[in-house]
Amino acid sequence: MCGIADRITDCIGLKYVSRAVKAASRQIHRRDPMEECVMIVEQFRKICCTSADVLNLLVNDLVSSMEAGLKTKDSKNSPKMLPSFVENLPNGSEKGSYFALDLGGTNFRILHVELGGRKAKVVKQEVEECSIPEKLKIATGRELFDFIAEKLSTFVRKTHGSTLSNHDWHHHQRKELQLGFTFSFPVDQKSIDGGSLLEWTKGFKCDGVIGENVVQLLEEALARNGLEMKVNVLINDTVGTLAAGRYLYDNTIIAIILGTGTNSAYIESSAALRLKLDESQLPKSTTTVINTEWSYFWSPYLPVTDIDMELLHESPLPGQQQYEKLISGMYLGEIVRRVLQKLQRQSGVFGKSVLSNLANPHSLDARTMSVMHEDESCGLQKVAKVLEENFDIVGTSLELRRLVQTVCDVVCQRAGRLAAVGIVAMLKKIGWDQASTTITIAVDGGLYEHYKKFRGYLFDAMRELLGEKVAENISIVLCKDGSGIGAALLAASHS
Ligand code: ADP
Ligand code: MG
Repeated sequence: MCGIADRITDCIGLKYVSRAVKAASRQIHRRDPMEECVMIVEQFRKICCTSADVLNLLVNDLVSSMEAGLKTKDSKNSPKMLPSFVENLPNGSEKGSYFALDLGGTNFRILHVELGGRKAKVVKQEVEECSIPEKLKIATGRELFDFIAEKLSTFVRKTHGSTLSNHDWHHHQRKELQLGFTFSFPVDQKSIDGGSLLEWTKGFKCDGVIGENVVQLLEEALARNGLEMKVNVLINDTVGTLAAGRYLYDNTIIAIILGTGTNSAYIESSAALRLKLDESQLPKSTTTVINTEWSYFWSPYLPVTDIDMELLHESPLPGQQQYEKLISGMYLGEIVRRVLQKLQRQSGVFGKSVLSNLANPHSLDARTMSVMHEDESCGLQKVAKVLEENFDIVGTSLELRRLVQTVCDVVCQRAGRLAAVGIVAMLKKIGWDQASTTITIAVDGGLYEHYKKFRGYLFDAMRELLGEKVAENISIVLCKDGSGIGAALLAASHS
């Protein structure tokens, strides 16, 4: 199926090139809108190109940036390499009942797991998912944490209330109810059970949280909701995914997030943090899990266009997180929208009366982009439907729909290949890029899970960079909800 779609795109590519050449040779005449658009897309495609040479340069740059991040306290345009203070990754022997909260970027999940020890593993698992209302992302911290606490409180009473007798409910709560909190924003931690927010990312901007201990804010909100729980661990989604991966496969050494944002975690020797942390702050265990915060990675080799530069400066944390802004779910649809907007501005190709919604930032998300990209129908009906429903663009020619699909393909291909750079750099960092034994990489995130073509480009680039033989030894496993389940597992291994 993929093959057919790829061939279609290839053919279209050739046709566009020949049109572009014709158009260039007729420069004295005014170009027709379609020719103009073909030229713009062709130019965009060229700059987004990621040859193996460029990818290798990026791998080396990312490895050096990670090394540097381990040694410095603050770094604006390189991975932050934050210690998580996780001392024990779960090993499968954990037992008992644990809750988890997973605050990502788009969704908010509440989980309850019952762990039955080595043989039984996860005996029971309950998950509730709710999306975070946009207005809450820019509300006060108190409103955000109250919303979370209220949802958790309802969930706990629904799932757990019946197992505690009414009169014991308040008395036993703190002892009985243990929680792992996945908070997927950069946090400065000094211990496993707390940490202060460094800065908001992924479109959040709630007052009164930066510099505060988010566990304390959560506990206060829970108390306002009449619920007392012990927050055993504060982690990031990558660390949770690593724990979940390790619980299932004991050769898991790296975790990657490819969802609204992107990030990774791995196991590092605590001594590597000697220059970054004071002696008294160093983790007590010999190894610790590092949350790389690789979204901040920047390199002159990153293939960025004018459109990416505009997005870099007009999005949250202006001028920062270039790597994430080329890769993650929050930005891919937005890049495509900006290209389409440019096509319309310069050629009017979508018709005179349409500009309205096409000019609205984030009016095209990654999921909708993937619907257009993965449309394999002869007439590209899904592309037509998205253009109509999202932007009131009607009556598009098949040629124009193909061009829109090409834009999606270029943006997705670059993102998948750059994500592969991250994975290969992690392998190189830990010296596993020549692996002869099998290892597992745990991945969580909606972008990776649902966008098949993105996964395809990522795998292709990994094989290109590592060679077939090494790539065969690497097993990439989707740990769905790993970021949340991992928090519950770590709450257990740190209880
Ligand atoms: P979070 O990052 O908030 O924890 P998820 O891991 O569930 O959330 O990822 C959600 C993100 O994944 C969405 O914001 C979107 O960018 C991306 N996504 C979800 N479904 C698809 C899809 N079908 N195609 C492409 N991207 C998708
Ligand atoms: Mg998540």
